Amino acid sequence: MSIAEMDQDQDQDLDGVTDAIKTLALKVGGDVVGVAPVDRWDEFAPEGHRPVDFLPGAKNVVVVGSRGPTAGAWRSPDHRVIEVNGFDFSNDRAIHVVANYIEQELGHYAMQAPSLPTGGQQPPMSLMLSAVLAGLGTRSLAANIILNPKFGLLYYSACITTAKLNVDEMLEQNVCPHPMCVATYREIGKTPCMASCPSDEGGCLDGTIGEDGEIESMSYDRERCVSRSMNFGINSFQKALGEIIDEQDSERRSSMINSDFFSRSCTSVSFFKESVAQCFECMRVCPIGRAERKLK
Ligand code: SF4
Ligand code: SF4
Repeated sequence: MSIAEMDQDQDQDLDGVTDAIKTLALKVGGDVVGVAPVDRWDEFAPEGHRPVDFLPGAKNVVVVGSRGPTAGAWRSPDHRVIEVNGFDFSNDRAIHVVANYIEQELGHYAMQAPSLPTGGQQPPMSLMLSAVLAGLGTRSLAANIILNPKFGLLYYSACITTAKLNVDEMLEQNVCPHPMCVATYREIGKTPCMASCPSDEGGCLDGTIGEDGEIESMSYDRERCVSRSMNFGINSFQKALGEIIDEQDSERRSSMINSDFFSRSCTSVSFFKESVAQCFECMRVCPIGRAERKLK
């Protein structure tokens, strides 16, 4: 066999392996899947936060994105119940299946990209960055959320692997702002997401769009957003605990401990099965992905 024929054989093999992984990811819960080579992180992530820092010899990162709330849930008039299902997102399930497939069927190392902080607030590896580098979306004016051109808001998981795979290009065009949002901005000085949560009226979002129709500047008040969008969870547990400890009146302290609010906070901390996110307003008004949420 000539070298050219061997190269062609290897390319076909690469196509086949990459297709098999992507098909599997979509079958087991992913809505989108992309592959990024590890050297793309060098430009954007500091040492200690790159795929090779977690899996020596890593070559690629497979990124899977899945929808959270269903199309029906987006239509609910009660914003508190849009919710996603605890922490068992389908993107996590899909990435576990992909990692097992790579190790058991292909014989290469694979590990889920570590995204939950092991200390402080910074994740070991950013899944938002991973999604961008794998060509699945771009940052938006709404809380920096990575918007996919077809689905809008997605939840991401990633798998670092030593397997050689075909990689995807990053998106050339920014998903946000949508042309309709640019028109709205020109009219009222705000895009729909900014108008739904304006920082000058106690909300979290602000920004400007340049003459070219691209994001010129943006600001997002993360602390304020957490206090509004996540009322039950670790933050509320810590907040309530401080207030309970400070309460001198024993009867009042007892009622605070047994209150619905504190009970719910305890449940969400222990099981993460309580409602942990109660605000999606900036995404509810976002036109990106709306077509996918339009059903009968
Ligand atoms: S999630 Fe809610 S509080 Fe946070 S930026 Fe969006 S609209 Fe504002
Ligand atoms: S509504 Fe969506 S597309 Fe429009 S500016 Fe906000 S995040 Fe971007």
